[in-house]
Amino acid sequence: MNNLKLTGKKPGESRSVIEVGGIRVGEEFVVIAGPCSVETEDQTVRTAVAVKAAGAKMLRGGAFKPRTSPYAFQGLGLKGLKILDKAKRETGLPIVTEVVDTRDVSWVGEYADVLQIGARNMQNFSLLREAGKSGKPILLKRGMYSTLEEWLNCAEYILAEGNDQVILCERGIRTFETYTRNTLDLSMIPAVKAESHLPIMVDPSHGTGIKFMIEPMSLAAIAAGADGLEIEVHIDPPSALSDKDQQLRPEEFAAMMKRLFELREFMVEKNEKAAETTKRGDLDKGKGPSGSRDVFADATD
Ligand code: PEP
Ligand code: MN
Repeated sequence: MNNLKLTGKKPGESRSVIEVGGIRVGEEFVVIAGPCSVETEDQTVRTAVAVKAAGAKMLRGGAFKPRTSPYAFQGLGLKGLKILDKAKRETGLPIVTEVVDTRDVSWVGEYADVLQIGARNMQNFSLLREAGKSGKPILLKRGMYSTLEEWLNCAEYILAEGNDQVILCERGIRTFETYTRNTLDLSMIPAVKAESHLPIMVDPSHGTGIKFMIEPMSLAAIAAGADGLEIEVHIDPPSALSDKDQQLRPEEFAAMMKRLFELREFMVEKNEKAAETTKRGDLDKGKGPSGSRDVFADATD
């Protein structure tokens, strides 16, 4: 791919690790969870406590919501950010929240540990530049009509401003299929790993829009080598002010997380066994230890 001066993978270069409050995205497996929108303090703090107990490492919640209709709930703005701050103080979870306007980047960044740039703003180049100048970790979602090359070029805008803390997030694209809200393109996991050094996460909530599909698609994303997941969780989904059909209840999320961690552990064990076998094989051949083939690493390494 042309012109990916900073985002593109260079031979021998290791994958980027983005550090957020002691969490190392790209190295450890990270689940970001929380409500679609911040609605009340009670809803947000209770959800935060529950997702933390289930193993989530960061809290998500929108205070600025990019909605299809101007009459739909637009988010609580500053009040929402203050609620997220309260949830962070209660749980210690770093905050991931969306910024939709260039004018808001610096002050939203005072509350956010990670600034999310949503699918609808992926190619908002002034917003990308501001995000780059902010120096904050950025979660850059894939635009719903965007190619991999366009997406990586948007990451390039952020890196070109001197901010290399970018996490990519596949969230599904528009296709002719209408059964699901979007078509979750898991082929982007190996594709990103082949073309870029940036971590790649997956959002199966917006990627499918259907509750029962979130677990199988999360498992598939893990099996394909995703660095993490972003999942919507609400204490009472039917009363949610946005995306009520795709938000999991805390108990559903907790049950799913157990199964996700089981798969992850299985893969880590397999990886360690493979490393051990490689090491032993090399020693037998008198080559000495040579490291391992990492099942999570990209195929082209
Ligand atoms: C979100 O994560 O809150 C969101 C709006 O997602 P997307 O930008 O992927 O639609
Ligand atoms: Mn949502």
